Amino acid sequence: MPCLICGEPKTIEAHLIPKAFVAEVKTERGEQHLILHKADKWPRVSNTGVYDRSILCGPCDSILGGHEDYALELLRELRKAKAPPGGIIGVDPINGDRMVRFAAGIAWKYAVTTQPGRIDIGPYGDVLADVALRGMSIPASVDVAMLRIVELDGDVYFYRTPMPDRKDDANVVRFTVGSFVFFLKIDQRRNGSTLPAECWLRGRTKGAFVIGPAELTEEGRMHRQLSSSPPSRRFFTEMRARKARRS
Ligand SMILES: [Zn+2]
Repeated sequence: MPCLICGEPKTIEAHLIPKAFVAEVKTERGEQHLILHKADKWPRVSNTGVYDRSILCGPCDSILGGHEDYALELLRELRKAKAPPGGIIGVDPINGDRMVRFAAGIAWKYAVTTQPGRIDIGPYGDVLADVALRGMSIPASVDVAMLRIVELDGDVYFYRTPMPDRKDDANVVRFTVGSFVFFLKIDQRRNGSTLPAECWLRGRTKGAFVIGPAELTEEGRMHRQLSSSPPSRRFFTEMRARKARRS
């Protein structure tokens, strides 16, 4: 299939979750990680995560790559900030629009992919393509907020692919990378009031995020449960055995 954005016939292997975010999930260099899908009986073992050969050409993929590089560096920096759970941490400066475009790009890829994990966001698929890939101005119906979740030593232990959800009665797409949960609003309704206004990043040059303990989030509880399930435990046991043989 040609590139969904520009029609270029030659497409590339577009990673749905950027490789750099996959590589951050705490492992040793070169180790694999586990991908668990609700629909699959067994987890898949993967090096770089899932990619799709039928959605983007090289130049269009590199537009998303620009947003993803910005987000990767920013989150790395923000993980150094320490605050008690519930604390609000200011971010100055931040390119808030770039973070919206970043989140829009991730959600858009999952809205169009033929790979497992596809989501249905109706007409917002096109809106997100405009924001992430066509450089259009960001409508008020699209905004992003992020929540830092802290587990163990505060490093990155998992990612979670996008899923449609509701926050403060508004439709959002929710996903986790770099130990931050992203709430990408796709709704005409106003931003909810659960998070302080400065946490919604559209149009901001100064922003903020909230810190939450992993066990209070759905993502943190799910990670704990899945990582102790029998297929996962077998994988980790095998990984440790392989490591012991190498050393
Ligand atoms: Zn293209």
